[in-house]
Amino acid sequence: MPLASSLLNRVTSPMIRQVRGLNVAARPSDLVGKTPLLDLTPFLEKHGVTNNSKLYGKMESLGPCSSVKDRLGRSMIDDAEARGLITPGKTTLVEPTSGNTGIALAFVARERGYKCILTMPETMSVERRMMLLSLGCEVVLTPKETAVSGAIAKAQEIKDGLGEDGVILQQFQNPANPKVHRETTGPEIWADTDGTLDIFVSGVGTGGTVTGVSQYIKGCDEFDLPALKSDLQTIAVEPQEQMLLTEAMGGEKVGEQGPHKIQGMGAGIVPGTLDLDYVDEVVAIHSDAAMETCTELWMEGIPVGVSSGAIVKAAVEVCKRPENAGKLAVCIIPSFGERYFTHPMFEPIKTKAEGLEKQPLPEPFDNTEYGFATPRG
Ligand code: PMP
Repeated sequence: MPLASSLLNRVTSPMIRQVRGLNVAARPSDLVGKTPLLDLTPFLEKHGVTNNSKLYGKMESLGPCSSVKDRLGRSMIDDAEARGLITPGKTTLVEPTSGNTGIALAFVARERGYKCILTMPETMSVERRMMLLSLGCEVVLTPKETAVSGAIAKAQEIKDGLGEDGVILQQFQNPANPKVHRETTGPEIWADTDGTLDIFVSGVGTGGTVTGVSQYIKGCDEFDLPALKSDLQTIAVEPQEQMLLTEAMGGEKVGEQGPHKIQGMGAGIVPGTLDLDYVDEVVAIHSDAAMETCTELWMEGIPVGVSSGAIVKAAVEVCKRPENAGKLAVCIIPSFGERYFTHPMFEPIKTKAEGLEKQPLPEPFDNTEYGFATPRG
């Protein structure tokens, strides 16, 4: 047999395929995690950082439901299953969330055979409601006046009505949240940088990502994790309009405090799933700066959400510092950009898209010249 065809036979033989293991996920939730790093150093250079520092983005935006919360949805359900708290076909998962956690929960609940009810303020966009309804979960809207607390109260009422069959997984308190980042996101970042990172930058919503990744790299006695790099600089990012973490770390609030536009971050509480002992510094970024950087990332061909803009902006500021010359920073890119088209940030683009006018064709125009069967008209 000629060499080429014998090689081909070997490569395609079923036995070889079985031994090697093909890269085929058995079920949708097996697609969660193992996200790549993207080299964002050219972005640093464009922003005048010339001290040889490097920046990589951990592309959580590439998950099956396009956000870092895909990990959390799977982990909270896996954990509750392992502890015998939920049973497919019997348990209803109830959660007060409009965000990426709701989407991730709905996605895994569907796969595993759980009913899922999500409560959220009526202000949530129709796209978001459509996403959740399309994933087969029930959406219950609450009055806008009561914001998040109204959604929480409604979720509790629904759960109480379900008795033993209703479970709220509570992303802001659930230990399975930091755990998944300790067991997956942290090890992935460590392996993919060959242990060479010096700085880790993450936004804080629940704090699960920043806590879990830092526990894995800095070490954590409670979970028998040795210190891989005890002097890792962990930077937490929060909205400048809501500087609760800065204050909790003993810093001063700067500027006007109030609502912000960085979805997924700045939840208005210091969450139970955040361990500030693992945070070296909090960097506050204003919503306007987050949106500006987000737009710049899109223009580099990196379509991401607003919180990615805040995190990359913070990472650029940190890398710029003279003491960080030559260092490697890794930042989280939490979500994909298309989910934010109803965000005020896209208002000018929406106006432009809606205002586009059709242009006249070259005349005379004959459809058949372009391979179509019938002439125009
Ligand atoms: N950005 C976005 C878009 C998010 O959905 C989240 C999660 N709420 C975060 C950042 C922050 O992640 P964490 O909850 O792990 O702190």
